Amino acid sequence: MTTISATRMTSDLSTETLQHAAALLKQCRRPLLISHPRPDGDTIGSALALRLALLQMGKSPSLACVHPIPASIAYLPGAEIYVTDVPEDAGIDLVIAVDMSDLSRTGGIYKDGWRGKLPLLVIDHHATNDAFGDVNLVDPDAAATALPVAALIDALGIPLTGDMATCLLAGVLTDTRGLRTSNTTPEVLRFVSQLVEAGGDYSGVMEKSLDSVPYQQMRGWGIALERLQLDGELAWATFPLAEKIAFGIEDHDDLDLGNLLSRVAEAKIMATFLEMRDGTVKVSLRSRPGYNVAWIAKALEGGGHHQAAGCSVTGDLSVAQERVLTLAREELARHPCESSEAFARV
Ligand code: AMP
Ligand code: MN
Ligand code: MN
Repeated sequence: MTTISATRMTSDLSTETLQHAAALLKQCRRPLLISHPRPDGDTIGSALALRLALLQMGKSPSLACVHPIPASIAYLPGAEIYVTDVPEDAGIDLVIAVDMSDLSRTGGIYKDGWRGKLPLLVIDHHATNDAFGDVNLVDPDAAATALPVAALIDALGIPLTGDMATCLLAGVLTDTRGLRTSNTTPEVLRFVSQLVEAGGDYSGVMEKSLDSVPYQQMRGWGIALERLQLDGELAWATFPLAEKIAFGIEDHDDLDLGNLLSRVAEAKIMATFLEMRDGTVKVSLRSRPGYNVAWIAKALEGGGHHQAAGCSVTGDLSVAQERVLTLAREELARHPCESSEAFARV
């Protein structure tokens, strides 16, 4: 099977790659859409919008994510049909990986036996994407996977319904933290405007996915914020396993701590460390524009974007802090204008 990649898109997306992706969708009958672990509004909203388009095409799509869908996005139309695993002989004929940079991010849902037998379509926007699909609809400049998904739906000639628009809004509004990130370009704002015109529920998504924090999560923030530290332009917080257990926090819940810490005014780089039951520490990295955390996550076998990235480090909290904070200080030591050079390492 030929491997096709697009590196820029939405308006600039290679027509050829879009057509290859559209052809895969037209040929299939039972596609499986996979969302990444600890799912966010983009991986779920983008997959659900594409599912609605596939239903209109007369296909029978299914959806899988290894972790449960959090309340902040579970209201989206179709979210209730997600399953947490799929047998190897599920009778699917196309796999679609949504909003993930490498195969390990399917969380084990992708089965080795599918390799070379089922076509794999990757739709993503991570800077660290390694083009692991047969067709890779990847735009590292896109603010959310929702944009390439919308371009694909458009290439299929399927008109946007209100429900599709709401799902796509969930993707773009959560990944831009409510249109606040530096990649919120005029194109993104026009995209959002088109989604609202198509009947998307802008205020509903803002209220349910961005403005509502479950009580237990907010209490968890309290615990983490008690441990907030600032050293120069580096801020971080830890969440030890013992406290997670005492507080009833499951491993699939990261309390969205990364985005909370992204707001520490004095910091250029922010890191959160959540100790997991499997002997790893889940690390979330955030940075101000000009500082790049993608290469740090990638160096530790994770991935992400320049301003938001993550990884899992084997060891306890002190091991993870040592490894991550050392690299973060290395990035801080560079002048901001040199960060594009640092990114060449990804
Ligand atoms: P998080 O800190 O988990 O909110 O993730 C920030 C960004 O990094 C998101 O775009 C994630 O998809 C990505 N990311 C997080 N963890 C990993 C990982 N282990 N491998 C690759 N990408 C990741
Ligand atoms: Mn995501
Ligand atoms: Mn995304």
